[in-house]
Amino acid sequence: MSDGFLPYGRQTIEEDDIAAVAAALRADYLTTGPTVEAFETAFRDVVGAGHAVACSNGTAALHMAMLAAGIGPGDVCIVPSITFLATANCAVYVGADVVFADVDPGSGLMTPQTLAEALHRAKGRRVRAVLPVHLRGDVCDLPALAALAGEAGAILVEDAPHALGSTLKVGNHLERVGDCTHSAMATFSFHPVKTIATGEGGMVTTNDPILAGRLRRARSHGMTRTPGADPWLYEMAEPGFNYRLPDINCALGLSQLAKLPRFIDRRRTLAALYESALAPLAPIVRPATRPQGSDPVLHLLTVLIDFAAAGKTRRQVVDALAARGVGSQVHYIPVHSQPYWQSRNGPLDLPGAQAWYDRCLSLPLYPAMDDGDVARVVDALQAALG
Ligand SMILES: *Cc1c(COP(=O)(O)O)cnc(C)c1O
Repeated sequence: MSDGFLPYGRQTIEEDDIAAVAAALRADYLTTGPTVEAFETAFRDVVGAGHAVACSNGTAALHMAMLAAGIGPGDVCIVPSITFLATANCAVYVGADVVFADVDPGSGLMTPQTLAEALHRAKGRRVRAVLPVHLRGDVCDLPALAALAGEAGAILVEDAPHALGSTLKVGNHLERVGDCTHSAMATFSFHPVKTIATGEGGMVTTNDPILAGRLRRARSHGMTRTPGADPWLYEMAEPGFNYRLPDINCALGLSQLAKLPRFIDRRRTLAALYESALAPLAPIVRPATRPQGSDPVLHLLTVLIDFAAAGKTRRQVVDALAARGVGSQVHYIPVHSQPYWQSRNGPLDLPGAQAWYDRCLSLPLYPAMDDGDVARVVDALQAALG
């Protein structure tokens, strides 16, 4: 058991990761070299998708997905209010509008009911994309969301940075997050707190070769080269961006991906330890609700706390945890309540998002934690709640 500070999440970098990066620095290509495709191929195979396109971060992945889908001014994207800012910002980058969906107050996820309600509010407008977020790592009801989106003429783009390794049981099938069985595309992030780390980094997966081609063009200035043409020749039909992921980062990504099974095991073990250690703190502290069929690899260990019943404010609990060396975080402030969105979209009441926000608190969870760390966190939480 460590007696240092436990952040809510952190990377696991080992000697062979460092060696992989050092080798990349000695190689011929620092960027746009062969390690990019090697990382993409390995990632594609891990999640079970036809194509994977690496990019500079998870926000770029979302932006590229919007560009590939041809979403633009006058179009509407439906985004759950409980997510990171980037899920909604990507619509702004392409000139589209956002209609925020509410979430289930127990799981924090967009559900068929909250999507149907958001679609109702968007009636008469051109809804082009629905962006469910697998918050914490728990998987949304993708078949039902896809059916509703399809009826509305929209595609599903999964914002999946929390859910690398998570699966969803549909009938007798086990579907992997990122295999895009029900969605056009899925996006990932390799920020240090996420399941694997490349420093900054992102990925988009899809089964559609046309979308994969558009993603690659959007990633690199909109440039295309025709095999067999003059070697200097490139063409641009539409401007793109520089959202490339360097070989240095891809080398780290490949090394990290090889450890994913071990990271998954450790996250599952720690989550199970938390579940039993937290049980005596009910009903003041409750686990987030597990959606039907979801088998998560939790990115975040988020609990719901009845602060009023405990007679404490969240700030008091957060400060008391920090005083005992335990980090915590709030995932997330409802995005629809941000000043930008309030002034752009006007007032909106989303009771599920508000209820989730009022109670949620994420506790430390990352592979390098040992079993004693979980006990230490739960003891600190019990003391903080009085
Ligand atoms: C981390 C995250 C992003 C953004 O990823 P970056 O790599 O930090 O740009 C987007 N959406 C969700 C849900 C995330 O957790």
